[in-house]
Amino acid sequence: MDIARLKSNHSHIIDSDNLPFLNEMHELDKDAFICIGCQAKALPCSYKPINKKRAYFMINDHENGCDAYKYEQLLEKVHTKSITTESGFPYPYPTKLYLQDILNKTNDKKEKNIESRSIKYISNYANNTDKIKNTSFHHHTAGTIRPIVKHFISFPYDRNNMLSLPMLDSSLSTYNQIFKKISQYKFDLLQWKKSYTDIKLYYARLSLEKDSIKTNNGLITLKLLFSDYSPVSLIIDTTNWSNKKRNEILDELSSISKQKKDLYIKTLNAKISQYLLQSGGIKEDIPAREMKKLQESSKSIEEIYIFFVGSLDTNNSRKFILFNDDFRLYYASLCNIVYPAS
Ligand SMILES: [Zn+2]
Repeated sequence: MDIARLKSNHSHIIDSDNLPFLNEMHELDKDAFICIGCQAKALPCSYKPINKKRAYFMINDHENGCDAYKYEQLLEKVHTKSITTESGFPYPYPTKLYLQDILNKTNDKKEKNIESRSIKYISNYANNTDKIKNTSFHHHTAGTIRPIVKHFISFPYDRNNMLSLPMLDSSLSTYNQIFKKISQYKFDLLQWKKSYTDIKLYYARLSLEKDSIKTNNGLITLKLLFSDYSPVSLIIDTTNWSNKKRNEILDELSSISKQKKDLYIKTLNAKISQYLLQSGGIKEDIPAREMKKLQESSKSIEEIYIFFVGSLDTNNSRKFILFNDDFRLYYASLCNIVYPAS
């Protein structure tokens, strides 16, 4: 799970992305966390600098009827209809992003007074978490865009759910209004500037070209898919990031690229076996035209998408920049994004 709450104070919600920071400050008590929906223990995992995977909470024994567990199960798939009822979305979901200043400054160098600030960090975070009566957490604060993006992907028919991001215009208050796809149609400078100058939560597919991920002096350049010869990119300045964070982004991208490739090979092999079962012979005998058909039909509908809060660089209209170079505002996912017919 991405979030848990403090056992000592049930209204304090902690995002798993904050675990490396707490660990670095020697503030991490592994027994301090429980599930946000029940009393089950939430064990912090993968938060040390040597861990490649992003930090998370492992919860093994949810109590019966735990809403957080039900939500987590629902997140696993993309839904084909709305599950929102008259009384709102039935499970706890992220409605608000809250960023505490200090996390933006964590680099490899330790700062003075940082210990007292980390305590302040937790209480500030808690104060910004919506508290709903009866200790239900139907609205909760996210510390990164990751849980927000997951909700957007999994519940395409519930994108009118509430959401607020502090750096955005407050008139934007739903998932639908805040997420914006970067168009893959013809590049038109005026139109382009009009569409992408405002800060929003943008997303686009990662280009499949070999050089789509480049790193240079702490700058990560991600080439986004665009049906034009000159590419559109997202530039992330990671010079103030910890090495763990920087590597995590690159490792995550290579791991989802591999996942996509593996899935393709697995599907293709299954199709080839099936074909040979019907036609007889060996793989090498399959006519090139048939092989091409098998390959085409093995391609997954899932693509690598890059999500980020940011806007177009005012000096270069083909480059997007991540807001404040804040790693909490970036997320990559292998997914299929469904658009309900309106
Ligand atoms: Zn639970």
